[in-house]
Amino acid sequence: GMALLVSITQREIQRLVESKSQLEKRIDALPKFPEQNPLPVFQVDKAGVIVYANLAAEKALANWNCKILDTIPDVFKNIIKDTFNYQDSTPLHIDIGQHKYVFDAVYSKGQGRVNIYGSNVINLESTHQALNIERQSFYDMLDNLPICFHLQASDYSVPYANKMFRERFGDPEDRKCFDLMYRREQPCEVCSPFKVFDDNKKQTSVWNSMDGHTYLTVCTPFKDSNGKDLVMEMAMDITNQENAKMEAIIAKEEAEKANYSKSEFLARMSHELRTPMNAILGFTQLLQMDQKNPLADYQKENMKRVTSAGNHLLELINEVLDLSTVESGEMDLKIETLDLIPLVDNVFSIFQSLANEKNISLKYEEIPHESCLVEIDALRFKQAVLNLISNAIKYNKPNGSVIVSYKKQGNGNMRLGIRDTGHGIAEDKMDKIFQPFERFDVDADQIEGTGIGLTISKKIIESMGGTIGFESVVGEGSFFYIDVPVSDKKPVSLEIEVSSDSTSAFVETSSKKTVLYIEDVPVNVDLVRQILNRRHHIELLSAPNALDGIRIAEVTTPDLILMDIHLPGMNGLEAFKKLQAFNKTKGIPIIALTADAMDGDIKKALDMGFYSYITKPIDVPNFLETVDRVLNQQAKLL
Ligand code: ADP
Repeated sequence: GMALLVSITQREIQRLVESKSQLEKRIDALPKFPEQNPLPVFQVDKAGVIVYANLAAEKALANWNCKILDTIPDVFKNIIKDTFNYQDSTPLHIDIGQHKYVFDAVYSKGQGRVNIYGSNVINLESTHQALNIERQSFYDMLDNLPICFHLQASDYSVPYANKMFRERFGDPEDRKCFDLMYRREQPCEVCSPFKVFDDNKKQTSVWNSMDGHTYLTVCTPFKDSNGKDLVMEMAMDITNQENAKMEAIIAKEEAEKANYSKSEFLARMSHELRTPMNAILGFTQLLQMDQKNPLADYQKENMKRVTSAGNHLLELINEVLDLSTVESGEMDLKIETLDLIPLVDNVFSIFQSLANEKNISLKYEEIPHESCLVEIDALRFKQAVLNLISNAIKYNKPNGSVIVSYKKQGNGNMRLGIRDTGHGIAEDKMDKIFQPFERFDVDADQIEGTGIGLTISKKIIESMGGTIGFESVVGEGSFFYIDVPVSDKKPVSLEIEVSSDSTSAFVETSSKKTVLYIEDVPVNVDLVRQILNRRHHIELLSAPNALDGIRIAEVTTPDLILMDIHLPGMNGLEAFKKLQAFNKTKGIPIIALTADAMDGDIKKALDMGFYSYITKPIDVPNFLETVDRVLNQQAKLL
């Protein structure tokens, strides 16, 4: 029995020893926590004696020269008393050195003591202040921005707006965005900022405000500190830039409109002017050609003057019309690789007789042996060269000379030069020479011209990528030149123009021919009637409008129809289509006869299938030749 008891006791002792050592380990670990707490913790007994203080508390209490087992400093006495009396104590704020503390007292029931916990408070107030200052400077910054800045909430309120926004749209407090910006009572259609709410992506747009300003706006998604979804909108006033742009656009549109109406006007004007010119020139030609009742010599002289004045007027009309085509950019250019030499030579030979007549020598300086390929529109280029050589002869002195030269330029251009020994051009006139209607030669009154030629030439050459220029010395002469790019491509073969002699082509046929003239202006009908009187085999029928014309054509099937284009009611082009649609009339050749001299009109008519196109004023020999040609062809076909 004893042995058993001893063994139990030994085991028990062993167990107790083990428990003790474990407990000791735990106790060892325990008090380290309050000790290591960086905040002050201390305990006071009922007598006001500090019975415990951690390291931080010891440091704090040193402020009052107080340590463990001393009486608590007076500042704490009230909260400790309140706590022992089960009263709520207000936390105690104490500054110790640079630190601010709040001390809370808690009654520890088991021990009958009061625990004091200090917390090291950050100075909230000064933090607040600092924050406020920071916020203010941020707002100041936003207020100084030269843009409207605001925050938009999805409930249409505007939580923040900077100064520029407030100045322009008003104070956003208690107001909705649609009221602020649009003076509306209801939300608008989805606008840029609200699109951002939908797809959370940045939106940039141009916005016109009610007061006529234009803004470039950028709306960006934005979350405030509470995580609320907002949109940040910045609007930069670009009214001035926009205005400048708009002005430019409007100015351009107006210029285009003006230009359009100008060419429209010129086309109309040329039509209106050509019709009476047609009568004047046509009838004077007839009078001059009349052999039955020949004019007296002085009358012939007068007629010559009328013709010459009329021709000048006609030239003016044509040039103004041409200028408007060139200026409007409607010129149809066919840029080809061509040899300059035969082209210039063609113009050269045209002027040879005029030069001889005026006792002016027209020569080449030297003609290059090889061909001289350039990229140009042949017809228009010739027009410019014609103008320059004609001027060099017109504004020359008696026994003067004109020398045409070719010179390759360093920059890949070919320079065609025309040097004269004429009047020259005064320095103060030099910058006006390419302007329309500027004529300043001393003898300009006596020398034929319109003052438009050089204007047109310049436009023509420049539209081909070339340049035109001149040098001149008054009394010595001028040197005009055209520079055009040299081509490295193969040339197109030049068509040789064959001119046929009008009278020889006419074969008098005994068979009668009928010509129908559809024309509303009686004087025109009269003129054509008198012209065609010279062809005894031709009978002229006429109709004052398209419908009558078509009816007559159906009944009589004429050999030729002369069709005016501007007719009352149905116009000549429509009448043409109608005639083409009837079996009986579709084989009849139709010549358009009109005062519309615009290139486009001519092309349109020819494309439609008109046999030919004659512009008024009628050039009598040409007109007769065309009519003869058509009727002869008809005769051969029969
Ligand atoms: P136009 O010959 O019909 O008057 P242009 O436009 O061809 O019109 O020329 C304008 C003006 O420039 C002429 O009126 C004339 O005063 C001057 N001019 C042109 N070419 C010459 C030249 N080779 N020598 C002297 N003056 C010239």
